[in-house]
Amino acid sequence: MASREEGPVSGSAEGCLFCGIVAGVVPSDVVHTTERTVAFRDLNAQAPTHVLVVPKDHYANAAELAAGDPTASAELVTAAHAVATAEGYDSYRLVLNTGAEAGQTVFHAHLHVLAGRSMAWPPG
Ligand code: AMP
Ligand code: ZN
Repeated sequence: MASREEGPVSGSAEGCLFCGIVAGVVPSDVVHTTERTVAFRDLNAQAPTHVLVVPKDHYANAAELAAGDPTASAELVTAAHAVATAEGYDSYRLVLNTGAEAGQTVFHAHLHVLAGRSMAWPPG
């Protein structure tokens, strides 16, 4: 993981829940890791498989991650696919809530991986 000195958005943001999970100081059920990402089960699962894939470095949302670290951004999607495959699914939904009105409650970029049930469209 990059240190804070290496860039304005790298490293751990104070008080950030998902930075705490990445650092291992907040307990979580980690299912997959890569050089730049960690994937863990959502505490409040909305599907038989509901995993969150997060960059190890702190970015407030997916757009900031894509601008600041495009490699990590791509790795997030690759990791999400690996998680779904490992759980036996080739059909899954990826969600990037961005902004409070869209339902974002944790302001550390995270990709929801949902699988194991049929999904309605449009989403609520
Ligand atoms: P969002 O609403 O898109 O910001 O998603 C945040 C997600 O984090 C929600 O689905 C929560 O259920 C989940 N969540 C909150 N705290 C934890 C935690 N400690 N471990 C795992 N998932 C969490
Ligand atoms: Zn964070």
